This record gives sequence, structure tokens and C-alpha cells, in this order.
Amino acid sequence: MTLHRNIRTTAEYQAIDAAHHWHPFTDTKDLNAKGARVIVKAEGVWLTDSEGARILDGMAGLWCVNVGYGREEIVEAVARQMRELPYYNTFFQCTHPAAAEFAEALCAQAPAHMNRVFFTNSGSEANDTVFRLARVYWDCMGKPSKKIFIARRNGYHGSTVAAASLGGMAPMHAQSGLPIEGVRHIGQPYWFGEGRDSGMTPEEFGLARARELEAMIDELGADNVCAFVAEPIQGAGGVVIPPDSYWPEIQRICRERDILLVADEVICGFGRTGAWWGSETFGIEPDLMPIAKGMTSGYQPMGGVLISDRVAGPVIDKAGEFFHGFTYSGHPAAAAAGLANLRIMQEERLVERAARIAAPRLAQVWRALADHPLVGEARCRGLVGALELVRSKPDMARFPEHVGAGALCRDLSVRNGLVMRAVGDTMIIAPPLVISEDEIDELGARARRTLDDLAERLE
Ligand code: PLP
Repeated sequence: MTLHRNIRTTAEYQAIDAAHHWHPFTDTKDLNAKGARVIVKAEGVWLTDSEGARILDGMAGLWCVNVGYGREEIVEAVARQMRELPYYNTFFQCTHPAAAEFAEALCAQAPAHMNRVFFTNSGSEANDTVFRLARVYWDCMGKPSKKIFIARRNGYHGSTVAAASLGGMAPMHAQSGLPIEGVRHIGQPYWFGEGRDSGMTPEEFGLARARELEAMIDELGADNVCAFVAEPIQGAGGVVIPPDSYWPEIQRICRERDILLVADEVICGFGRTGAWWGSETFGIEPDLMPIAKGMTSGYQPMGGVLISDRVAGPVIDKAGEFFHGFTYSGHPAAAAAGLANLRIMQEERLVERAARIAAPRLAQVWRALADHPLVGEARCRGLVGALELVRSKPDMARFPEHVGAGALCRDLSVRNGLVMRAVGDTMIIAPPLVISEDEIDELGARARRTLDDLAERLE
């Protein structure tokens, strides 16, 4: 049998890709002018491209390959499952061992008050599920007027209509008339970008941003508000790590005003912040948690919503059928991948190891980059970090937008053998949890070399 993989040249792959493959979140003309980077294999934290270059994957794919590449246990589990039962649905009063066992294992690892999972195929679908389920919950509670979601500007919850509406990405809203009705946004707790000139300390700023939620609920009337939805640490918005004052205040407001708290754990879940859940890192108790990414470490597409007893109880008792689901909800191969992934994380104590060894080393290496003339702030938590590029210190002036400093830095970084992502002029990383201390040092060295190259290019 001829395998279609990697039998053509880089230029040939780029040509067929340019002709036929429409990429997500990509300017097609720009991509086709440059030619896509063709990644052909990966092992541990290292990618190999079609020219044989080895690149340290500082983004764990798209924040998902938490256990690293090349995990035979997951490959075997998926292959075994596909031989035995490649597909069956979970509608119509059916289940299969993989979905049932993964659900059990996930709920055992979830916060104690969450004992059910609804399976989806992505983080976007998980947030769409939240959108519908939270409203059904309030119907069941006899409060059908509680329909409005409050989320945050510059938050990201996915690309489907409801998820993109919950998200606060202005360019996404502008392109397709979003958000849909029933979604409102408040400010984000982004100290470096929006708080520094406020005259407040970071803690005061965190409180002020949390209290925007209180003000908006009071403006709309708590009887009309369904839930607050937010990422514990905003990922795609530029790794916005909130001041410590922020989340406890949000929790207080949600409890006092009786609205559901939804922690979007699609990035933060499965160890990213140095605990199993971002909610744990920030000491909050959400009612619903959308999950994906690290759920299978990206070996199979899968998402889900972890559901608290508070929400599950009334919906199961009173709503009867929840008219919602996907053909591939709980797909056997994805569930098998998820279960094998979870077992690796538990058996190798990856989250604990990341918190004890990798996170402190990354903090040391990453924060040291703050002494670079182009870095206004270097922040990190667990295994996620950001660098704010500035033109000058100490006034922290940004580069003019047309310079495209972030995009240039990203391209230079790949040339230096490191994947960093650019969000405007914020450089972000989220490496696999299995990254070794030596690899963290290497990541730091490559990031510094990249900043030096950037300085030279921008002179
Ligand atoms: N929620 C968050 C916090 C995300 O970062 C993402 C994707 O990056 C999503 C939801 C959407 O997930 P997916 O791309 O799997 O639909």
C-alpha cells in the first residue's frame, strides 16, 4: 500500500496546499506567498519539518499536546479500539466501554462537585453546549428569564456561532455580525495592556475588572442573567494572567447574584497552570467547565463539558430529554485516546511534576528575559507564559502597528528552532508538560537569540 505521507518535496506540498487547502485563521494570500511550513513528524517536544529542521514546540501544537509527541500507549489504545469498535453512537440509549470508562475516569479527576461529562468534538462545541445547557438549567429552576451570558472582551471560546459570540475577539465579531443576541462583554484583567496607566495597583485593578461583572449584572437585572463565562487564564488573548484579587471576587459576585460560573478550561485544564484545573489554581468552584485540547493531548479530536451536580440534578430531573448532541459525541477512538492520555498523566504524575520541576524552572528562565531591552514584561504561571514586546523602556512604548514586531519575532523564532506564537506584540508559549529542564533552558536560549535578532532587524 502506498502511503500518501511525505513522499513529495516541500515545494510540491506547498503547491497542492496553496491550491486546495483553506487554513483556519489564516490570510490565504499571505500564506501562499510564503508557502506553508510542512511539519512531518514529532517526538517528545520536538517537531521535524519537511526540510529536516528540528523545532522545539513551545506551543504544544495548539496548547494541546500535554503528554508530548510519540506516545505509543495512546497510538496502541486507539488502534486497538478501532479494530474492536471503530464507531458507535451514544444516542438512543447506547453506550460503549470506551466512553463509559473515560467518563468515569474524567469525573474522578474533576473537582469533587462535578460528576458528569457531556462529550463533544472540540472546545467550540463544548462552549456551544454550555450555551444551551445553562439556559435549560434556568428553565428547569423556574427562572426562564435568565438568558443573558456575560463574557469578556478579548476572551476566546471557539469559532462556532455561539462560542465566537461568547468570545470577545473584535475581528471575529466584525466579520460576521456577532455576537448573537443575549451575550454581553466586560473588560479583561489585563494588567500590562490596560491596567498600568490606571493609577491602580494590580490587585486594585483586578478587583475593578471583576466588579464590572457586578455592575453589568445589576444593570441587566440578575433575573435576566444566566452565566459568566471566562478562561481562568486567557490563552489566545495573549496569556492574560489575572491579578490574585480577580477570581475570588468573581466567585463572590456569581454566588451573591445567583448566576452560573463557567470556567472555560479548554487550555487551562489538564495541568497547564500547574494544577489539574485552572479553577484549582485560582481557588474557584465553577458550575460548568468546557474542556478539550489536553483531554486527549490532541491525539484525537475531542471536547466536553464537565457538569456540576448543581446543574445536572435539575436538568436530569425536570427537562427530560436534552435535545443536543453530536454524531461523534464520545467517539470510541477519541475516548480511548483520552483514557490512555489520562492514565499517562496520572501514572507519570505529570501535573505534579510540571508544578514541582518544570514550572519553577520555566519561571526562572522566562522571567530572566525581562532584562532584554525589547521586553516590557515576562510573565508565566505553570507552563504558560508571555513576553510583552516594547520599543522602549521604561515608558513601555509599543512599536507602531505597521512594524508587525510580533509577527516578525514569531518568524525569527522558528528560524531559531522554537515555536512561539504572536498575539499582536505579545509572544506566548505553552510547551508540553513533559518538557525537561534542559529543554526549558534551550527554550530560553532560543527565545533570547530571537529577541536579539529582532532587535537587530528593528534597528
Ligand atoms: N476555549 C478556549 C479557551 C480555547 O483556547 C479554544 C481554542 O483555542 C477553544 C475554546 C475552542 O476549541 P476548539 O478549537 O477545539 O474548538
